[in-house]
Amino acid sequence: MKALVKAKAEPGLWLQDVPEPLVGINDVLIKVHKTGICGTDQHIYNWDAWAQKTIPVPMVVGHEFVGSVVSVGTNVNDFHPGEIVSAEGHVVCGRCRNCLAGRRHLCRDTVGIGVNRAGAFAQFISVPMTNVWHHDPGVDEDVASIFDPFGNAVHTALSFDLLGEDVLITGAGPIGVMAVAIAKHAGARHVVITDVNDYRLDLAKVLGADVALNVTRGNLADVQKELKMSEGFDVGLEMSGNPAAFRDMIDAMCHGGKIAMLGIPSEPMAIDWHKVIFSMLTIKGIYGREMYETWYKMNVLLESGLNIRPVITHRFGADEFEEGFEVMRTGMSGKVVLDWTIFD
Ligand code: NAD
Ligand code: ZN
Repeated sequence: MKALVKAKAEPGLWLQDVPEPLVGINDVLIKVHKTGICGTDQHIYNWDAWAQKTIPVPMVVGHEFVGSVVSVGTNVNDFHPGEIVSAEGHVVCGRCRNCLAGRRHLCRDTVGIGVNRAGAFAQFISVPMTNVWHHDPGVDEDVASIFDPFGNAVHTALSFDLLGEDVLITGAGPIGVMAVAIAKHAGARHVVITDVNDYRLDLAKVLGADVALNVTRGNLADVQKELKMSEGFDVGLEMSGNPAAFRDMIDAMCHGGKIAMLGIPSEPMAIDWHKVIFSMLTIKGIYGREMYETWYKMNVLLESGLNIRPVITHRFGADEFEEGFEVMRTGMSGKVVLDWTIFD
């Protein structure tokens, strides 16, 4: 089969012919239709310090995908050929305290698809049945291909009650932009998003942001005045990983405000803890998606009219993957989706 392989310990990815994956008795073999490119894939492509210490070489990469079931192992009863599915990208240990208690998203020992084990940028992928998610028949496969980052956005956005609240999102990357639509759908009063990139701020407007602020040209204090907000934001969703953005957020929160942190800073960062303490803020770290409550929510949010489709700005055949990575490098993109059915 064709697959995008981290074949050498140097920058780049290589489209190669590799053997089809093995299917264990608990596994589901899936024919991949479409995949999303994630920031993680960019790190792996660029071969930065994190990738160098994390990614085994050679390995098929990628974890955001939709496809159809081809065959199943002998222990598998719930999945059948032809069904449209995605997979949760974290394979949990099943044995730690949290796993045993059913809190699988808090597993202490996860293995990442396309990070620690063979990924989805391929014609076929084999995953444990416990990781497979059934889509509703007729699901939009472009949207289904990005359930993984959509899930990051849902998990973060729904961490705190949003009904009637004023919400600040820092970072209008694909996940921040999706979080705008989710927060509006969940009944937030004002949704303000910040970035330094006008292309992405415009996209956030399309997804329903009340204000999309370029922090190189304005500040949150003025936005709050404009919106007649007297007490600061009730909920913050940090989705940039940028220390300056996080500090802006802390300054802009109301007393008792709640912050969900998804963005991953590249280095340890300092903040003014006086502000956290005297504003009595709650800060919650977010990783991945809840298994499988977030997946359930994604389904029903779409069913109840949430539209995240505009976040997908570019589509390429999988053989044009270099163009996909290039457009992401420019920052002039939302989600980039690759089509693997071109090899059929
Ligand atoms: P992204 O890198 O595409 O988006 C980050 C955005 O932040 C960019 O558009 C950038 O221009 C913007 N930004 C930079 N400086 C800023 C500033 N001062 N103020 C406001 N915005 C600023 O990332 P993404 O794919 O949308 O993911 C969002 C974040 O979440 C990233 O940090 C990513 O690493 C992280 N992430 C975390 C998890 C998790 O499980 N915790 C999962 C996926 C992604
Ligand atoms: Zn575990």
